[in-house]
Formats: sequence, structure tokens, C-alpha cells
Amino acid sequence: MNFSSKILENAVQEVALLPGIGKRTALRLVLHLLDQPSERTTNLASALVDLKMKIKFCKECHNISDQPICEICADAKRDQSLICIVEDVRDVMAIENTQQFSGVYHVLGGKINPMEGIGPSDLTIDSLIHKVNSSEITELIFALSSTMEGDTTNYYIFKQIEKSSIKVSTIARGIAVGDELEYADQISLGRSILQRVPFENSLKN
Ligand SMILES: [Zn+2]
Repeated sequence: MNFSSKILENAVQEVALLPGIGKRTALRLVLHLLDQPSERTTNLASALVDLKMKIKFCKECHNISDQPICEICADAKRDQSLICIVEDVRDVMAIENTQQFSGVYHVLGGKINPMEGIGPSDLTIDSLIHKVNSSEITELIFALSSTMEGDTTNYYIFKQIEKSSIKVSTIARGIAVGDELEYADQISLGRSILQRVPFENSLKN
């Protein structure tokens, strides 16, 4: 692509770095922004800067938050002894949408994936184990997608806490194997949390 302006070229290159966006689409988006009132574009730019500079991760559950402790962890009506383990913020949003869960979350930040070089220390597993050992937790619910990486991660965590007396369950598999949680429909996902099963049972199939 031959650009008539270096500024235009820079903008296109930056936008084209986003996933799923090629240079042609980037050019279309950039020209669209150029056509907009300047307020639109500056609002977009400052929203992006805020995203990177101001967003925090909750000290308790590692969910994305504007405050050091997120709204869910800070909510006195939620059962702090019931922890649902999820991969990322999208899963928290999916489960919250079902309105079937009154406990709190622990966001791992990914799944163990040796092929991509993601090991247990790259996730927030240590902080989860610490929580299990130091606070009054009655139940952990695994709600990772049922892929090989999800199963590996569940099993790794289970082995770390096996000796503690807390109940460990996994969401019922109304969710198809291999499905990502965020794409599950609300009713199936809500039901799979309510009908969760002891984790050890899930190891036998
Ligand atoms: Zn939190």
C-alpha cells in the first residue's frame, strides 16, 4: 500500500495490529475515524488510554476492576466461602448474566497450556491455594471450558488442595465438551452451575 501521508500510514499500521483486522479493513476504519467529528476520535483515544493506564485487577479475585477490590468481592450479600474458578473476565460476565451464582470468583488468567508455554506459575493458582489455606472456604467450583487444557488445569489445582477438607465440584456438563463458557447460552450455563457435581466424579469418565 502506498500512502500519501505518513500520519495516515502510521494510523493504519497501528489498527492493523489488532486481531482479525487486515490492512484494507484498517484503512477503512481509519478513514471512517477521519470523517468523524474530532470529539469522537479523541473520546476513542482516551478510552483506550484509560483502558491501559487505569484498569486494575481485583486483589481478591484478579477480575478486571476499577477499584482495588472489585464490586463482586466487595458485595456483602455474596457468599465469600463459595468460589467459582474461571479462566477470564468473559467467563465472570457469562456466569453473572445467568443470575444463578451468589458466591465469588477466582480468575486464573488462562489455562495451563504446555504447547504455548503457559505453566501454573503464569496463572493465579498460588493466590488461590493461599486463599484456600488461609480463609474460610467451603466449596470450590471448577468452571473452566472442558478442553484438554481446562481439564489439566482443574486436575492440577485439585491435586494441590486434595488434602484440605473443602468440597470441590465442577459445573455439570450441559456445556458441550470443547465449548468455551462465554458462548454457552444463559439457561444451560445457569443450570450447569446449579447442578454441579463433585469433581472426583468427573475424573471417572
Ligand atoms: Zn474481586
